[in-house]
Amino acid sequence: MQISKNVNNIEWIIEEVQRIVPRDRVLTGEPLSGYTSFRIGGPARALVIVHNEKELSRVLRLLRDSQTRHFLIGNGSNLLIKDGGYNGIIIKLGGEFEELSCEGELIEAGAACLLSRVSSAAAENSLAGMEFASGIPGTLGGAVFMNAGAYGGEMKDIVESVRVMSPDGFSTIDVSGDDMEFSYRHSILEENGYIVLKARLRLRTGDREEIRERIRELTCKRNEKQPVNFPSAGSTFKRPVGGFAAALIDEAGLKGTSVGGAEVSVKHSGFVINKGGATASDVIELMELVSDKVFERSGIRLEPEVRIIGEDETWQR
Ligand SMILES: Cc1cc2nc3c(=O)[nH]c(=O)nc-3n(C[C@H](O)[C@H](O)[C@H](O)COP(=O)(O)OP(=O)(O)OC[C@H]3O[C@@H](n4cnc5c(N)ncnc54)[C@H](O)[C@@H]3O)c2cc1C
Repeated sequence: MQISKNVNNIEWIIEEVQRIVPRDRVLTGEPLSGYTSFRIGGPARALVIVHNEKELSRVLRLLRDSQTRHFLIGNGSNLLIKDGGYNGIIIKLGGEFEELSCEGELIEAGAACLLSRVSSAAAENSLAGMEFASGIPGTLGGAVFMNAGAYGGEMKDIVESVRVMSPDGFSTIDVSGDDMEFSYRHSILEENGYIVLKARLRLRTGDREEIRERIRELTCKRNEKQPVNFPSAGSTFKRPVGGFAAALIDEAGLKGTSVGGAEVSVKHSGFVINKGGATASDVIELMELVSDKVFERSGIRLEPEVRIIGEDETWQR
């Protein structure tokens, strides 16, 4: 490949990607608002949907050799993509990464499987331990990446091992759950940039009806407490040491505060919602306002849980 000659030409890189992945899975100028739970985000230079390890490895090698900016998304439920879109390649997993199988008390599932689907499969097979994840709207890959958790459970409790690919696409290894360095909303992947291909989850045999009942119970709790009818990215801020973000936001009198179409949810102050037509700039301005006011009142600086990526200014000419 004559990469050195064309290193700055993204159009050429996209053509090369189309030699690896069929054209109908390389979407140029694709608006990313359709790929995030916030329903916000400008266009990507290209969004590439890879269906197997070989495609992923070849795409990553090309992008690394050509030093092309790229970012992998899951279900976009913890992302805020800026209004200028993404001046590079967005990678999304599909195809073989959506496979799921169950053997004894183990479930093996591809990184692109939605947690709701994995939880349902666990319940179907009378396997307990994954109920906590049923209402988290992310993929298995995204959940492992950030050790997603709810209602007393976390991915670290159930991950037996994870198959990952190095960011340069050259190697694939299995990492045990113990070596993933899981902690609150964190795994080692945040540091090393490895990509989750699939994961093996160790669950325990239980009673199918009891498992389903627990899922129903948690779904009701979520629907009661969270603004599930509005687009959002879940909890906007991480839980600070010694407190809860929502309580601090309430105490600062910020419930219902809005900037443009973005609002601190009246139902749950820990969520910034898109009430309609919110831009990423609205959300960022509101997040900064909330963070500053909470700091003034409590001395605690809230850190974003939502990952912000992309450009302020559009790359489109
Ligand atoms: C209504 C609502 C409720 C929520 N409730 C919860 C909750 O209770 N608990 C909780 O923890 N979260 C919750 N979230 C946040 C979100 O669903 C989780 O953070 C989820 O794990 C994100 O997964 P995703 O696939 O959407 O990842 P994305 O948002 O697409 O990406 C997030 C990060 O993961 C990385 N990533 C994605 N896939 C992979 C992969 N295969 N390999 C390596 N890295 C990858 C991305 O590069 C990115 O850095 C909620 C969100 C919403 C909208």
